[in-house]
Amino acid sequence: MTQVVVGRHPHPSALNAARRSRELVALGDDPIVDVLVIGGGITGAGIALDAASRGLRTVLVERHDLAHGTSRWSSKLVHGGLRYLATGQFGIAHESATERHALMTRIAPHLTRPLAQVLPLYAPGHMARGAYVGMGFGLGDGLRRLVGTPDAVLRAPGPIGHAETLRLAPAVRLDGLRGGMRGWDGQLVDDARLVVAVARTAAGHGAAILTRVAAVRAWGDGALLRDELTGAEIEVRARAVLSATGVWAGELDAGVRLRPSRGTHLVVETARLGGSDVSLTVPVPGSGSRFVFTVPAPHGRTYIGLTDVPADGPLPEVPHASEAEVDMLLDTVNTVLQEPLLRSDVIATFAGLRPLLGTAEDDTSDLSRRHAIIESSTGVLSVVGGKLTTYRRMAQDGVDAAVARRFAPGEVAASRTRILPLVGAWPRGRSDEIEAAPRLVRRYGAEAPFVARLADGPPAARGVTAQELRWAVLVEGALDVDDLLDRRTRLGLVAADRDASVDAAAAALAD
Ligand SMILES: Cc1cc2nc3c(=O)[nH]c(=O)nc-3n(C[C@H](O)[C@H](O)[C@H](O)COP(=O)(O)OP(=O)(O)OC[C@H]3O[C@@H](n4cnc5c(N)ncnc54)[C@H](O)[C@@H]3O)c2cc1C
Repeated sequence: MTQVVVGRHPHPSALNAARRSRELVALGDDPIVDVLVIGGGITGAGIALDAASRGLRTVLVERHDLAHGTSRWSSKLVHGGLRYLATGQFGIAHESATERHALMTRIAPHLTRPLAQVLPLYAPGHMARGAYVGMGFGLGDGLRRLVGTPDAVLRAPGPIGHAETLRLAPAVRLDGLRGGMRGWDGQLVDDARLVVAVARTAAGHGAAILTRVAAVRAWGDGALLRDELTGAEIEVRARAVLSATGVWAGELDAGVRLRPSRGTHLVVETARLGGSDVSLTVPVPGSGSRFVFTVPAPHGRTYIGLTDVPADGPLPEVPHASEAEVDMLLDTVNTVLQEPLLRSDVIATFAGLRPLLGTAEDDTSDLSRRHAIIESSTGVLSVVGGKLTTYRRMAQDGVDAAVARRFAPGEVAASRTRILPLVGAWPRGRSDEIEAAPRLVRRYGAEAPFVARLADGPPAARGVTAQELRWAVLVEGALDVDDLLDRRTRLGLVAADRDASVDAAAAALAD
């Protein structure tokens, strides 16, 4: 089991305020590094891990907190590439299935789980729709088998009967129900947790992970950094500078052109959907290929997504759902519910901006989810586009590009992240060997016993313990109440949970 000691001899992957201060001072004293990564979303964290695990002196700077940007607003799915197959993008589909396999079997089995997707079928038209969706699920399953993901991790899809459909999705409408189709995909326990786990693993390999540090300007072999807590500035020299700033990439390199598209989710109580633990998948009326789906989420909640709306214009730090998006999601999911969801059932919404590559003419829903590495005229390498699922591959490609340009042949080892487990990783199916409450094991994997052993204190809402808050402060780099509630625990999503948790979060920080 991973040995984590919290206290006077912190584990090398532990991130906290003391380490941040120490590493900022060290950087000021010796501001020459191999790789500077700008941006602490999943892409930047992945790049830091790839570079540090190759033995490069690596510094990551993030102007807010880890996962402050798009990476915390995703649907939390580890896609097998089905939607790319549907649009004929076999290369991206294969890459997605390969990365899903690596994440679910070796890199982060503790942060991922199989998620059943259930599409209820109604007469008339159930035969044709069942055949169409079944064909899609079948293609996705072919890809799963091609990349070697075993049935024990993701089962084969297939039709299910009326009774099984109702057992899995008890809230669906009975009138005309003929049965359903069931497929499988990967789900993350939480996207922000994945970012933190990747960043901590990078820190364990020696990377400095500096939150609340902005890159004010960047060029090919350096950047001007500003500590957002003190205003102090440091000029850093680096052999390679990689920008992983998502939809904000154009701020550092005007040559990067992205077409952000907003995706919105609703938050409802899972009880309102009969306590279902599957992803209810609902065709968007009038569209053959678009679906709205529910995703079971932590704290007894379910998310309902997803929209795809062009979001040109000024970039907000935190995007917001529009009324039209809320209506569209409710109207679609209600087509299959016995008791339609009301506006009052929506206890929160969240929205994120996809960093899509494309031209001004493209419809954002048609834009490729591919990633790209763009070199600015000054030599900054921007790693943009892609998906959360494919972060590891994006990171590897980004570091390979930097190594090819800025290092001598043979000077730097090849990427090893494909076989590198993240902190807390533990083999799937053996979690009962970890001596801690199942709820903690699902969130912390092999580290759960160390979380449980911390001192107790006032709990937060929805069963989140004082130990979890303390762990986030001591080990996961949370610096303030917002880090704790909005990124480490996600309690901040629902206003009532936030209000009920602020004191506990403040107490954990004070300790
Ligand atoms: C609604 C939605 C749903 C999605 N669902 C899925 C899904 O289910 N599965 C999946 O695989 N993918 C999904 N995606 C895609 C995925 O979420 C994104 O591709 C991914 O999170 C992008 O990560 P990133 O690190 O590139 O960008 P971000 O997470 O936005 O990170 C960029 C970071 O850079 C920082 N930054 C910017 N400028 C500076 C600066 N000058 N100095 C320092 N820091 C800076 C920002 O603060 C930010 O934290 C979804 C996307 C959206 C919008």
